[in-house]
Amino acid sequence: MLQTALRYSHTLLKEIIQPGDQVIDATMGNGNDTLFLSELVGPEGKVYAFDIQEQALANTREKLGDAAPQASLFLAGHETIETNVPEDQPIKAAIFNLGYLPNSDKTIITLPETTKQAMDAILKRLTVGGRMILVIYYGHDGGAAEKNEVLNYCGDLPQKSYNVLTYQFINQKNNPPILVCVEKKKGSQE
Ligand code: SAM
Repeated sequence: MLQTALRYSHTLLKEIIQPGDQVIDATMGNGNDTLFLSELVGPEGKVYAFDIQEQALANTREKLGDAAPQASLFLAGHETIETNVPEDQPIKAAIFNLGYLPNSDKTIITLPETTKQAMDAILKRLTVGGRMILVIYYGHDGGAAEKNEVLNYCGDLPQKSYNVLTYQFINQKNNPPILVCVEKKKGSQE
């Protein structure tokens, strides 16, 4: 069976992340991706994880258990990656789940401008062969604008420097999520 966008995001991360790598979870939420990343990088690696809701940090802290030491949880928007992740820190992978926290306040959503700031900061730090992945949920108010911003931003990245993939079930109802994967190419200057 074909994988869901969410499962495929994990497949794409698992293919490249090695123990000891430094990675980013740009939208911590309930901590599912933070835990997955923490297990992949292991105790020698580091996960920088961001969310603006106290509840997200509490849920993630609880979920992490033994994997907690390698995760740094920031109660801060991903627009602060530029200041919270050192500029010379090589980042192997980053993941976003855009939208709102399930079973929570549906008005607290990721936004086009801050998502763009985060993507700018991540691409500056991404290693060659590294991947930035976005799973875009866009059925809510404001979701379409963010979807368009992300697709335009990633679609405009130069082919010489990046491979950009989209993955979506195009015959499903109710706005199925879109996965975007940006991979930095060898010889990239950006
Ligand atoms: N990956 C998460 C998980 O495993 O449960 C789900 C993430 S949920 C779809 C989106 C999250 O983005 C919400 O928890 C929301 O609080 C958070 N968020 C909204 N604006 C943000 C921002 N500027 N920076 C970081 N997180 C933000």
